[in-house]
Amino acid sequence: MKAVLLAVNASFSHTSLAARYLAAACVEQGLPLSLVESNINERAEVITARLVKEEPAILLCSVYIWNRRLVEDICTRLCTMYPQITIVWGGPEVNGSLEDMFSRLPFLTYLCQGEGEEVLPALLAALWAGREPSGVGISSRQSHRGASAKVASLDTLPDPYENEAILSPVKIHYFESSRGCPYSCAYCLSAREEGVRYMSLGLAKARLAALSTKVKLIKFVDRTFNADPARARELWQYLLNLPGDCRFHFEICAHLLTEQDFALLDDPRATRFQFEVGLQSTLPSALTAINRPMRPDLVLAKVERLVAQVKVEVHLDLIAGLPSEGKSEFLGSLNAAMAARPHRLHLGFLKILPGTTLSALKDNHGYGILPYAPYEVLRTPVMSPRDFAELKELERALERFYNGRGSTAALSYALQFLPPSALLAKLALSGEGLVEEKLYLALCGDVPEPELLRELCRFDFLALEPHRQLPPSLASGGGEEGRLLREIIYGDIEQLWRLLPKSRGEKPGSILRSLRLGLFGQQTMEHLGFAASNAFIFDHSRPVSERTTPLTVT
Ligand code: SF4
Repeated sequence: MKAVLLAVNASFSHTSLAARYLAAACVEQGLPLSLVESNINERAEVITARLVKEEPAILLCSVYIWNRRLVEDICTRLCTMYPQITIVWGGPEVNGSLEDMFSRLPFLTYLCQGEGEEVLPALLAALWAGREPSGVGISSRQSHRGASAKVASLDTLPDPYENEAILSPVKIHYFESSRGCPYSCAYCLSAREEGVRYMSLGLAKARLAALSTKVKLIKFVDRTFNADPARARELWQYLLNLPGDCRFHFEICAHLLTEQDFALLDDPRATRFQFEVGLQSTLPSALTAINRPMRPDLVLAKVERLVAQVKVEVHLDLIAGLPSEGKSEFLGSLNAAMAARPHRLHLGFLKILPGTTLSALKDNHGYGILPYAPYEVLRTPVMSPRDFAELKELERALERFYNGRGSTAALSYALQFLPPSALLAKLALSGEGLVEEKLYLALCGDVPEPELLRELCRFDFLALEPHRQLPPSLASGGGEEGRLLREIIYGDIEQLWRLLPKSRGEKPGSILRSLRLGLFGQQTMEHLGFAASNAFIFDHSRPVSERTTPLTVT
């Protein structure tokens, strides 16, 4: 009797930590299972075909808001093909009325609630022994046993990556050093849990040291990584000292950052850290409604300070559709968030997850909430469907012009003259095409020096595009820049290596392939802080932060 665990991730680059934990917990107890990992961009019939080849007698599905509809489709197909199959669902979507779930989803055999590392081995052991599973957190159509199964100590869980000799360097790998959150945000499932359980620091350090040698990005799933500031600091210090180039992503509460944290994070090696900070809103009534007592001015001041240190990459999150926040108030939150100049700003839309405090809103007729996953709010008493549609357009412009390109020189200049929300509204109307060209054409009428904006757009384009030809609206100087670049490359090699020390030892022909040169006017060079030069070399073999070198050419 073969058991297969299905994990459908939210994107190709993700990996499922939960599935690995579950598999490791079962294998440790002598209950082997196979893992089939996929993502929501694959079609149901393709994933089903992969499962058919595995010939599962028991299919275990890890179900979240992002994969629920797809997993339903897959299970329906498999159950139609193999009516005797045992299908088990677990994960955050197993919530609310189990009676309802069983009646709406005829393929279901069992539902699991609580922490799977406890529940799943008990379920599989019973099935393999030919018994009816009946442990805590396991429900069948005949009997429901609520969720209370909880792992006593994270240190008792086996290493989820232990059996994987090769991990993909292009995928994100997740790590959990604590479980639970000390806060109680009304829209969040983690708020239901009491207390935070921590993995011991020694074990966390040992596992992170091993994992960081195999992957490029480790994201901590800890709900608030710095809930215990001293512990967070100790781990940050340890990770800063790890060899290699693995990067680390943490969800933190910015208002908890201390002077000691800022001193530690001023280390040049902190460029390997990404912090995700939940602001959600700056409107006091909205923050009260979602039970987030953090002061937004304090959060933003800390974010601004972190960004100014130019080491840690900072991502800031906002949520549209919160109770009492209308469109104009939300744009106020957006403007305040952008003023802190985070490296990325995520604009999410409120989802009312079953089982959260906010789920009471589904009985409030002022709210229009999608009745199935992802349970998105589409209308509130103070935000109309049209408001939501306009904010979705802003969100697309934000992704394309701000998050997708980094904090560019042209955008920074334009933001001196337009509030972020007005700027994004203009960019949202700019249509398809090259980002820098669209930005110039959309905003040239709103800045006092349109030619400076044009040059800054050209600067950004050359810094971000290794090969693409400049669009006519941004081009300048005919073929002069190419000729000058070849003269520099094939001229005095020592001088070239002094200019680009990281290329020392390379041949001119191979250096040339990754270089672009741009000539710029005096006003642009002054604006960028290089008044003594008249050009830049852009070295696309280097990371963006090290790509630009000013020089003087004649
Ligand atoms: S939203 Fe974040 S801070 Fe709030 S309860 Fe959930 S995990 Fe904790």
